[in-house]
Amino acid sequence: MSPTNPIVVCFSASGTKIGKKLVKQFGGKLLTKSLSPNQTIPDQLQSAFLGQVPIIGICASGILIRILAPLLADKIQEPPVVCISDDGQFVIPLLGGHNGANRLAEEISSLLKSQAVFTTGSYTSFGLSLVEPPDDWKLDNPDHSKSVASAILNGRRVVIEGYSKWIKPLSHFPNVTFQSQDIATNKIAIIAEGSPSLNYFQKYIAMGIGCVRGCSTSELLNLIESKLVEIDISLNNIEGIYSVDIKCDEHAIHQVARKLNLPVRFFSAKTLEKLRPRLKNPSEVVYREIGCHGVCEAACLARAGEDGRLILPKSKTQNATIALAHIGTYRTLPGTPRGRLSVVGIGPGKITMRSPEVTQALTLADEVVGYRGYLDQLEAIPSHSALVPFELGEEEQRCRYALEAAGKGKQVVLVCSGDSSIYAMNSLVLELIEIPQNQGGVSELAKKIELRFLPGISAFQAASAKAGGLIGHDFCAISLSNLLTDTDTILRRVKAAAQGDFVIAFYNPASKKRKWLFEEAIELIRIHRYSHTPVLIAKAVSRPNENITIRSLSEVQVNDIDMFTIVIIGNSQSRMFWSGSMLNGINGYWGYSPRGYDQKRNNIIKERETE
Ligand code: SAH
Repeated sequence: MSPTNPIVVCFSASGTKIGKKLVKQFGGKLLTKSLSPNQTIPDQLQSAFLGQVPIIGICASGILIRILAPLLADKIQEPPVVCISDDGQFVIPLLGGHNGANRLAEEISSLLKSQAVFTTGSYTSFGLSLVEPPDDWKLDNPDHSKSVASAILNGRRVVIEGYSKWIKPLSHFPNVTFQSQDIATNKIAIIAEGSPSLNYFQKYIAMGIGCVRGCSTSELLNLIESKLVEIDISLNNIEGIYSVDIKCDEHAIHQVARKLNLPVRFFSAKTLEKLRPRLKNPSEVVYREIGCHGVCEAACLARAGEDGRLILPKSKTQNATIALAHIGTYRTLPGTPRGRLSVVGIGPGKITMRSPEVTQALTLADEVVGYRGYLDQLEAIPSHSALVPFELGEEEQRCRYALEAAGKGKQVVLVCSGDSSIYAMNSLVLELIEIPQNQGGVSELAKKIELRFLPGISAFQAASAKAGGLIGHDFCAISLSNLLTDTDTILRRVKAAAQGDFVIAFYNPASKKRKWLFEEAIELIRIHRYSHTPVLIAKAVSRPNENITIRSLSEVQVNDIDMFTIVIIGNSQSRMFWSGSMLNGINGYWGYSPRGYDQKRNNIIKERETE
């Protein structure tokens, strides 16, 4: 996951003072009414919550509860949400207590010299969270924590095998006995009378992996399992998997990581080569091929750090190699994950028309790339996502930039309006990946990234919905931009669509210089459609300057139309009707294209009449 600096939200002047102090300490983004006048704070907080970004609110707890209540689903998925009273005196972890909120509340209260109020059982009673050990420890069986906690509190006999400083607060309980007090171990078991034991493992071993392209997952997994048995180390003590960056798309490595629930990080060959003097099995062959003298030994040593050491030198099967290193001083994961590019459609305008999946991608991104105009429309991006704007016409540059940034291991989002495959970037991104680098394609590392395409609501859907159901039957979209498609092809398609009686959505209908093409297209359609055919002229749908009208085909004029407009022309059956109130549809009119139920109804009536 990306760095998770919090969003700090304040609703009063005294709160803002505290908020600034917190942002200085923890990083992140300050939200106040005066700092974000155009943005809605609830939308931003909901978006952050969905993106697993920690939230600190200096306000009444009810405000946060009401904003986040609709999103509460899965206790394990909750990011930390901490509420601080306006005077800064009390700090209350509201949600995600076991996902870091308790710890965050503790840190905040020591910064503000105030009182942290814990409501989760184990924190109040034990002074530590049984289910949330320090970062370099893992609890193997959290389901048993409740019964062990109640055994401790109810005075049943409890024995703790193994020791580490963080478990010490339990020594205050007279019924708890430590078997090996003060001698640090890599495994701790809390064994309570009448309950299954609670097992903690220190994640102190880094695993380096190298393999031949296409190596099978089972070959790699068998190698790992047999070596760990041989040297008597538990899988639970492994902290992560490390390799060289050209292996970042290697199926077996990712499958093994998923099976073992371990993070994977990659290093460049240049970084790995610096570890050459510490390798037990340097190889000239590997050096000639990829530029470093070894992968598995070097990769686990790169993670283990200068005070780390190799505990299992390179071991291999035909297609895979592994090595293990004892991690020295624990620090956050070095190396980079496999880079990811999400090409997303942000919908036609307002944030509520954006899918939660896209919102989450935006919130977690390291970099958000796109046309300047679209980036200006975005709201709710925490400050750790850098915005990288490009100008109109720089489509290829922005796709290239996004792909190469992801090739460096970043989480990148490429923003398109509406849907990302409709006259947008999906195909250009794929084109740059498919063609070889020497023919204008992107670099080899950029080609190995994880690619996702996240759909959005396109302009034709949003516009049709405003009128009711104009795209209610077979429809097609045609772009009238002749920058990349020649005019003859466009007109040929318009004619075919008109003859085929499709509902037609015109994207890019007219620019200042190109009005004639729209006029020609309309003339072609008039040959095949009734003059009363409804035409929807929808400008800036779901944006502040939205302007939508519905006219008959005979009334359509090019002067009503610009590049921010989508035009939808009904088919031979499309209808518009007065709804009875100006409050409905487009100035009181609804427009729709029937699907044929009228015929079905008429047939039933006829059958009844003949009976
Ligand atoms: N990917 C976008 C289309 C980009 S092409 C989508 O799926 O909607 C740009 C054209 O889309 C514009 O010229 C206009 O015709 C249409 N368009 C995009 N957003 C619009 C909006 N909010 N209202 C009306 N038309 C829009």
